Amino acid sequence: MPAAPIEIVVASGKGGTGKTFISSNLLYYFKSSDLKCVGVDADAEAPDLALALGDYAHIKDIKEVYESRKASIDYSKCTLCLNCLNHCRFSAIELHENVPKIVEEYCEGCGACALVCPAEAISFREVLTGRIIVGTTRSDVDVVTSDLEVSGRNTGHLVYLARETAKRTYPNIDIVVVDAAAGIGCPVISSIVGSTHLVVVVEPTPQSLQGAKRLAELAKILNVDYSVIINKADLNKDFIEEIHRSFGSKIIGEIPYSKHVIDSYVEMKPLLEYRRDSDISKTLTSIFDKLTKILKVRA
Ligand code: SF4
Ligand code: SF4
Repeated sequence: MPAAPIEIVVASGKGGTGKTFISSNLLYYFKSSDLKCVGVDADAEAPDLALALGDYAHIKDIKEVYESRKASIDYSKCTLCLNCLNHCRFSAIELHENVPKIVEEYCEGCGACALVCPAEAISFREVLTGRIIVGTTRSDVDVVTSDLEVSGRNTGHLVYLARETAKRTYPNIDIVVVDAAAGIGCPVISSIVGSTHLVVVVEPTPQSLQGAKRLAELAKILNVDYSVIINKADLNKDFIEEIHRSFGSKIIGEIPYSKHVIDSYVEMKPLLEYRRDSDISKTLTSIFDKLTKILKVRA
């Protein structure tokens, strides 16, 4: 049986901090070191890891996931008693000309309306929650994407399925890099739980530092070790000391703001591919070297 892969989760307590920039380049770094790696895009509401790696050049599999249900009223049975409307805690039933109507966007599928309906007029239908997409990007990195359907419930289960799909589809993989959603909600917990290491990406702003501290607390609760990378470090030099006071030796590097990063996004290439010899690429590589030493990865 193949050994379990190292799972590195890249997360930030706040959106727009640069975690996909770190994830895509980390994958490209491992790929260039001849390690077998796969990326997991766990930001199901706004997946863009594959895009940062040039988009999918080849799709291997798309699996639809149905795990939500919505109520539906059979008006041939309905007696218009309005019990359902009075018991729906999610305001998902509205009255239109004295007739109850289900508002699907708000329906949580809890079943309360069906329980109180004397006419057995309410049934449920399964609805699409999202998709798990497996494929290879133009940068030749394999990526498994969790892609939430609009109005689908983002419970974290899609993330669990994406992580499991990655390990099942690529059983001999050395490393999985999970690009987590922003914040510390269920999808982020699903990304971190059972992983090997968390990389917290923080930028020098109070909001980002606050989010990063909450992530570090979460990592401790989930018993996962973590490192910190400061991105756009030179945008607020006065605040860097504050981050160092908070994380000390957990900080493995600082990345300055660079126009090359924006250009690489526009070109849909990881920076290490797009501007391999730039100073910022050298900075990134030395940070990733440190991470591989911490994780004792053969690179
Ligand atoms: S299933 Fe629950 S949320 Fe949906 S309409 Fe019925 S009571 Fe409201
Ligand atoms: S509880 Fe049943 S019978 Fe009463 S209004 Fe709702 S669907 Fe119709």
